[in-house]
Amino acid sequence: MITWDGGSNTAARSAALERLDYFCPRAGLVYHKCRNYDYGQNGDAYVSGLSPYIRIGLLTEAECARAALSKHSEHQCRKFLEELFWRVYWKGYLENHRAIWDQYKRDLNLVLEDDSLTRDIATAESGRTGIDCFDSWAKELVETGYLHNHARMWFASIWIFALKLPWQTGAHFFLSHLLDGDVATNTLSWRWVAGLHTKGKAYLASRSNIAKYTENRFAPTQLASKAVPITEDPPLQTLSPRIQAAPIEIDRESKYGFLFTDDDASIPNFGDNRPQTALALFPETRYTRAGISQSVIDFRRSSMDDTVGRLENLGISTVLVFQNHANAIVDWISNHQLDTIACHQPYIGDWNDEWNEIEASIASSGSKLRLFRRWWEADLFPHAQKGFFPFKKRLPAVWERIQSPLVAGLSY
Ligand SMILES: Cc1cc2nc3c(=O)[nH]c(=O)nc-3n(C[C@H](O)[C@H](O)[C@H](O)COP(=O)(O)OP(=O)(O)OC[C@H]3O[C@@H](n4cnc5c(N)ncnc54)[C@H](O)[C@@H]3O)c2cc1C
Repeated sequence: MITWDGGSNTAARSAALERLDYFCPRAGLVYHKCRNYDYGQNGDAYVSGLSPYIRIGLLTEAECARAALSKHSEHQCRKFLEELFWRVYWKGYLENHRAIWDQYKRDLNLVLEDDSLTRDIATAESGRTGIDCFDSWAKELVETGYLHNHARMWFASIWIFALKLPWQTGAHFFLSHLLDGDVATNTLSWRWVAGLHTKGKAYLASRSNIAKYTENRFAPTQLASKAVPITEDPPLQTLSPRIQAAPIEIDRESKYGFLFTDDDASIPNFGDNRPQTALALFPETRYTRAGISQSVIDFRRSSMDDTVGRLENLGISTVLVFQNHANAIVDWISNHQLDTIACHQPYIGDWNDEWNEIEASIASSGSKLRLFRRWWEADLFPHAQKGFFPFKKRLPAVWERIQSPLVAGLSY
């Protein structure tokens, strides 16, 4: 059984590290053999449950991989390492195909305006469809903020092919309730199930597969017998990515501040050149308006508080703001007379959509913005162009570097 905030774990880095430590002995062959089984909300779990922490940056993929490699050979824990880097693949893929995000938002708004769908969507979301496994997963998601990967695949497949609801509304339901809700992984995984990622290859949930991997807790009979292809407006325009190099060197003479958002609340390695101050942006009002569940908001908020506390412990005074971010940045720069701002480059998603305004406030204050990326993202994102298979070929070089000492500069 996995619990986070409200259970025995809280949204703090200490809790995230505890969970990583607890999971690591099973990150090898046990994970490889058992990870596809979903024993339900109150059953055993052979997966890590690390995703909410990784999503917010309380843990990074590299440190999870490093921890697994400290207990297992690369061969033994390869499956776990690859799953960790599926997330990096999805994030890189969306950076390279950013029009998918714009198209998703546009189509979601269109289908949400369609009154004829409202009742069926509400029935599905509240778990009243009569398909027992689906109804149980809908309730589990809302109650816990989590679903096993296999349950997510079955759920999405039933949503699209049995209930015939638009995939965008299912993706929106997931993003509103998943503690690990991530724009890239979620949108692209729904597209993968719908057969839009690998054209024509949809994922069809089957009774026998569900019965096998839930150990007969469920064996639904109301599933679709075939995946009717989903169509979308071609072509998706692909714009060139904007991927910054990592690490970056900050001039020692400069007065610099560290800016971060809940896109990535990790603390990079500042080396011996620490920022004077930090500013944390958390869009609580935007989330409430967008219908993000209160438990997701609370989880992210407490993660941000935790990062703020850890920065303060490093002697870096930090302020957390919830709205009017552009104005808050101008005040922060002026109060501390900062000439340089270092910030994780925002991923495609809501923060990136707001980024022009934020960049404009920094520029209007006369400060220089230095964006940076985690090194494995800078290395790997350019290779997330097509399928996971060619991307995967790049991973052994990453495992090697993960086990080497940290590089100099502001990095990870
Ligand atoms: C329709 C659908 C929607 C999804 N939406 C999200 C989402 O919004 N956010 C999210 O983090 N994951 C999402 N996933 C991927 C996956 O289901 C979760 O990452 C995983 O279930 C998290 O549980 P865990 O930490 O116990 O995973 P573990 O099996 O322990 O894996 C370890 C880590 O690897 C990464 N990972 C594992 N499986 C995947 C995967 N298939 N794709 C990408 N990364 C993976 C996660 O960071 C995870 O924490 C989605 C999958 C599907 C099919």
